[in-house]
Amino acid sequence: MHADHVMGTLTFLRTVLGAPPAASSSSPSATVPAPNRRAPQVDIYGPRGIRRMLRMLWYSTHTHSQHAFAVHELLFAGQEPSVAAEVKDGDANPVDVRGESECVGRDIWCDQDGFWKGVVSHNPKYNHYGVVVDAGPILHRDPCIGYIIREVPPTPFHPSSRLPRKLVILGDTHDPSPLIPLIHADPAFALALPEIDVHGTGTRVRIPVSLLVHEATDAYMPRRIDPDERTGRNRTQESVLAKTVQRGHSTPAMAGAFAKRIGAERLVMNHIGARFPAPSEYGPQIRERFRAACVREIERQAAEAWVARGHAGARPQAAWDYLSVVVPPNPRRDPPEEPEGAQGAGGEAEERGGAGEDSEGDNEGDEAGSVVSVNMGEVDAEAVVAGSSGAVADVEVHSMSMHHERHRRGRGRGGGGRGRGDRGHDRGRGGRGEGRGRRYHGSGEAGGSGNRHGRP
Ligand SMILES: [Zn+2]
Repeated sequence: MHADHVMGTLTFLRTVLGAPPAASSSSPSATVPAPNRRAPQVDIYGPRGIRRMLRMLWYSTHTHSQHAFAVHELLFAGQEPSVAAEVKDGDANPVDVRGESECVGRDIWCDQDGFWKGVVSHNPKYNHYGVVVDAGPILHRDPCIGYIIREVPPTPFHPSSRLPRKLVILGDTHDPSPLIPLIHADPAFALALPEIDVHGTGTRVRIPVSLLVHEATDAYMPRRIDPDERTGRNRTQESVLAKTVQRGHSTPAMAGAFAKRIGAERLVMNHIGARFPAPSEYGPQIRERFRAACVREIERQAAEAWVARGHAGARPQAAWDYLSVVVPPNPRRDPPEEPEGAQGAGGEAEERGGAGEDSEGDNEGDEAGSVVSVNMGEVDAEAVVAGSSGAVADVEVHSMSMHHERHRRGRGRGGGGRGRGDRGHDRGRGGRGEGRGRRYHGSGEAGGSGNRHGRP
């Protein structure tokens, strides 16, 4: 519930829920049903306090919307919701009253293990994958939560079915290990799967974490990167680590170590502190070079803690605002008829038992669904993860959201036809990250996806 994580929610809601129709302002409200007479268009899940904050902000800023939202609070044992899901107009303090844009949300208490399982659940349909969201506590100076988003395969799980994707997205933390049992709490079918040594790290799991989003608030910059001590005076590796942990945060090495510990295939670090320069479209080149050097060093430190030396299979990524990361569907594990020569050149994917197979292979019999948007079975899960914004010293500014969009079936990946870079967010970023999304799978697409961010 820290401000740097939730203060954008009101603006986000107002943007996606739209302005109320003009009629509502010119004629009596009776002619236009209140937005909350229909199902919520956005569901907000968060720790205790999120409902009260939004209700208060919505009321205090005279906000109205065309569509409605609902707020669901994830509560620890013994906690009461910050404000009741339903407070009717009457004697109550007006900031506590559920307004006309808010539907009645749920109060969700954790189970005996301290986890919130199945907070969101969409069942698989036919041969389309469903999705389930779990949440659990992670350690920080204040109560904090991490989320696990899992694909749910259609039943029965066929031996050749592709592995479901699994995303782990953490809030601020100096130790997310309480979440580990939940991360590995895969459905029963997983027990029949072979164990995979992810990236040769020695961590053996049956369903790897496709993407871990882990904070890396602070990092020590060695003198060769930062000779003028622009990231802080008299800092040492030890002092940076101690202070970072003391403040409840993580270093890149801690993020890398956790990626190794849970068997993550990809790692994106966000919540990069404002002492590191933010991407700048207009800044002098020297600043951009320094920024790039810091980013490379942050990624290097994470990689050192994550992947065995000489193993090029994984590359951590330091996030920036509007970064998008494609997590493509996993390949089928046991392709029945894979023509010779169709496999990618990389050998890394062999651990997965489906070397180089294009993920589109498992779309067969699924053609209609595979090109329709908002179908969890066939879409790319795309995390939009913000890195440092950096405008104000010692304030971490970032946002994080996740959305899904149509699986592009491999078309246009190389051309950047829809990449965010087209809008100019990524100008001036150079050199890094060719084909990140596909590298691990060794598929034929590996060379193409890097440019979708508009990077040179
Ligand atoms: Zn924070």
